[in-house]
Amino acid sequence: MTESEEHHRLVVAGTGIAGLTAAIYAGRSNNDPLVLEGDEPGGQLTLTSEVENYPGFPEGISGPDLINEMKAQAEQFGAELRHGIVERVEDDERPFRVELTNGDALTCDAFIAASGASARTLGIPGEDDLMGYGVSTCATCDGAFFRGEDMLVVGGGDAACEEAHFLTKFADTVYLAHRREEFRAEDYWIEKVQEKVDEGEIEILRNTELLEIHGSAEAGVDHVTLAQNESGYPSENLDDAGTERVEMDVGAVFVAIGHTPNTGYLADTGVELDETGYIQTQGGKGGNQTATGVPGLFGAGDVVDYHYQQAVTAAGMGCKAAIDADGYLEDLVDAEASAESEAQAEADD
Ligand code: NAP
Repeated sequence: MTESEEHHRLVVAGTGIAGLTAAIYAGRSNNDPLVLEGDEPGGQLTLTSEVENYPGFPEGISGPDLINEMKAQAEQFGAELRHGIVERVEDDERPFRVELTNGDALTCDAFIAASGASARTLGIPGEDDLMGYGVSTCATCDGAFFRGEDMLVVGGGDAACEEAHFLTKFADTVYLAHRREEFRAEDYWIEKVQEKVDEGEIEILRNTELLEIHGSAEAGVDHVTLAQNESGYPSENLDDAGTERVEMDVGAVFVAIGHTPNTGYLADTGVELDETGYIQTQGGKGGNQTATGVPGLFGAGDVVDYHYQQAVTAAGMGCKAAIDADGYLEDLVDAEASAESEAQAEADD
């Protein structure tokens, strides 16, 4: 730590719903949070058109509107929002030292990791080269660019179903390819998709995987190579007699196969991460559920939660993290005050 580095009582990494809820609570507890906004400001909700399951909005609310209201609410209670991507957190000394990718560094007494998760990709030929040129991980962001085209959505969870449903606004036909027979998505989305299947707007391709995307940056996606095997997971059985390769003309591909937590910056800390990068928090029934193995460092939202991953559960965890951090910071102040009075007493003797 150098003298010139600015110091904050609390830093929150992330302006998704977990980070902003933490900021609202931390602001109201007079912990003056600095909230660092990364490359996906507002997190995944800003990529969602309509949020219909966040309590309090019977008519639904757009993801960006919900995030903007939360930002205003956080700022109203004293949170400072600033662009900054955390590269590294040093936890071997106190205060923590937080290095940003732009070379800046700051220090803080407590840190809440609420940096969310980023879209996973398939790692197949053509995917990287055509990302942004017909391949996308966000139907809400990019769907309208491919009006009138046939589109392929890959995945079998809520996100894939929601994206396929949304894309029917623009597509000629939406093909929804899932690698096995059963969908992972909740009944609500399966039924919504089925309505569109009945209307002829979505066609479901079960037991189907995408092997390659063909096209060019200039002309976009031209066609794809799919593998199909009625036993499921065809890419694992490419030499199987029951596996068929199919070429299909589509103008856009949307990959919706889940997310990976953004926790690389914690790799050198004492925070325990599982094999996919999710933060291990204390959990349980009592207080301090968001505490990590490093006192003063807390985790909330999609960096921790590999199961629920809902806006409202992320908000709940952000609230818990702010309360846990507040308890830690109060203990820190008490410890500093008693160390000072002990030192004063020794000096007086
Ligand atoms: P998810 O539930 O993890 O589903 C990912 C899907 O992608 C699964 O069907 C999986 O197949 C498939 N997949 C994973 N890797 C693949 C690969 N390499 N090749 C082909 N397919 C692959 O992820 P999600 O849909 O993004 O949802 C994440 C969380 O957000 C969930 O908790 C969900 O409820 C929530 N969410 C909710 C809403 C809502 O409206 N309520 C909307 C979006 C997301 P398998 O099934 O075979 O594993």
